[in-house]
Amino acid sequence: MGEIMIGIKLSKHKKETMNKIEEFLNPKEVYFKIKENDEVLVKENEKVIVGQKIIKTKYDTYIHSSVSGIVKEITTMIDYQNNKSNFIKIENDFNETNKFKENDLKNITKEQFISNLKENGIVGLGGAGFPTYVKYNNDDVKTLIINAVECEPYITADYINCFNNIDKIVETLNIIDNIYNLNEIFIAIKTKNRTLKEKIIPYIIKNKKIKLIEVPNLYPMGWEKALVRYIKHTDYDKLPIEKSIIVSNASTIYSIYESLKYNKPLIEKIVTISGDNIINKTNVKVKIGTKFSELKKIYKGYNSKEINLVTGGPMMGYSVETDEFIIPNNLNSVIGIKKIKEFNPITCLRCGKCSDHCPTKICPVLVKDNINNNQELKRLNVERCIECGICSFVCPSKINLREYVREAKKKVK
Ligand code: SF4
Ligand code: SF4
Repeated sequence: MGEIMIGIKLSKHKKETMNKIEEFLNPKEVYFKIKENDEVLVKENEKVIVGQKIIKTKYDTYIHSSVSGIVKEITTMIDYQNNKSNFIKIENDFNETNKFKENDLKNITKEQFISNLKENGIVGLGGAGFPTYVKYNNDDVKTLIINAVECEPYITADYINCFNNIDKIVETLNIIDNIYNLNEIFIAIKTKNRTLKEKIIPYIIKNKKIKLIEVPNLYPMGWEKALVRYIKHTDYDKLPIEKSIIVSNASTIYSIYESLKYNKPLIEKIVTISGDNIINKTNVKVKIGTKFSELKKIYKGYNSKEINLVTGGPMMGYSVETDEFIIPNNLNSVIGIKKIKEFNPITCLRCGKCSDHCPTKICPVLVKDNINNNQELKRLNVERCIECGICSFVCPSKINLREYVREAKKKVK
């Protein structure tokens, strides 16, 4: 089914964490980043309960406290992209006040569905962190694609969530189908992922609209545009909804389940901790806002003296210089690397590989050559870049092109 997408084969490194999940749900303190145009809803020394709204975002949705405790202060911390930012610090009192009650999900209306996602701060867990209610707030939805592809090396957070919670994920798909009366629902997994395939099939038999789709084992096959092209043979300009399609990550569907069923806000998530420098490679369910270094009780520290961490996957991620950074709602992996390979870039060979492999048809070498010419950067459509890192990966001169394109995106914004 479908045409073969542009993409590259990567070593996977997934086996060690694929069947492993642990929990760390009692951090001493949690931190929540205050972004531009956010409204802080709590004051210093205020008592908060689990799930209490603490920030209203510019999208009119909310960030919730993941623990019960006391708002201590607004403090500067490192975020997962290695930037210093202001965070609300909450000290855990370990009382876990607030119990989430079960809801009756029969006959839920679209308005109730949208309002539930908005109030509970559900965002896309594939990495972008975009508010889910905005995606679903459309009348013309015909196709739903569940993205369980997870094409970056090392990361298995979606895999384990999908494997362990497929019954709840399918229950949620049936609810969404009842609301939107969809034409079709696809669950996209990677080809040869037999164990997951066998696990899913018995759960989808009853709803004939749900189909399991195996996509090629290429990177970046989990990119929305690649999935839509592969499954629906169509393209869109900015968003899949232009073609009546919504793409949701499998873990996002699970968080929608908890939001609908228990009115539980997005306060926990699964993070893969892996890489050759991590002693105990594993998946761990954490409270959002936990400081990564607190998770040492689970991952047991590093194999070498250096702490070289990449947050968000080796292809798209960010290098962070410390393990004192904060885990936000959209971070799905932290990779520890023993040694960062030092590459000394050499002169561009004009081989064209970077543009040949770019899935968004950008010419990264021209972006680099014109990095100080904003007019030209706009013309080169740098805002289309999905930061997949393929251009840097394939460049024989070892030029870090993705960083140039990232910088260019900021410049034209
Ligand atoms: S320019 Fe952006 S989208 Fe294109 S290959 Fe480089 S990182 Fe990926
Ligand atoms: S891949 Fe590297 S060497 Fe080849 S054109 Fe692009 S920047 Fe130059």
